[in-house]
Amino acid sequence: MSESGGLDDDLRVPTCERCPALAESRSRIVNGVGPTDADLLFVGEAPGATEDEEGEPFVGRSGDVLDEALSEAGLDRADVRITNCVRCRPPDNRDPTGEELANCRGHLDAEVDRLAPELIVTLGKVPSEHLLGRSVAITTEAGDVADARIGGASRRVLLSVHPAATLYDRSQREGFINAIGRAAELSGVGERSEDGGGGQSRLGEF
Ligand code: URA
Repeated sequence: MSESGGLDDDLRVPTCERCPALAESRSRIVNGVGPTDADLLFVGEAPGATEDEEGEPFVGRSGDVLDEALSEAGLDRADVRITNCVRCRPPDNRDPTGEELANCRGHLDAEVDRLAPELIVTLGKVPSEHLLGRSVAITTEAGDVADARIGGASRRVLLSVHPAATLYDRSQREGFINAIGRAAELSGVGERSEDGGGGQSRLGEF
């Protein structure tokens, strides 16, 4: 895998030193992957150890869970874009700090502005709170759709639990699968849209 994680799109952040500690500890910057005009954007928290090694978001155990849910929803990883709030791995799997989230926000806003996705899916509490700008009770709010100002426009956001939550607590799996299925339906991406909405986004209905 290349330093960029195999990415050649112009949304790639080639270098960044805004968080000196993360710049020191990371193996590489983990940029978003997927088409730069994707209708569906998944936003996670920050890279873990495997992502830091391989240079691509959600390629560890959480990524396996996400891939499985995408496939159950009739989606292919190649049809969607996947990124993180913070592009460098926080050491010891800690949550990113508020300062790290703020430092990385410009990269995420630029990515969202460029994609102008039909729908953003936040994977977990950290990205949900970061993009909505309020505290979120993720287990009760998962599956909800909200509007949020991100970058230069208002965007539709579907809240989801983090895929890793389904590994710790199997009872969360069904809700996670359903949220990804709903994302496919609402965004008009994938097979579900063919029987449900003919490939058209259904967000106008919500
Ligand atoms: N968890 C995240 O939030 N992002 C990743 O890329 C991997 C695991």
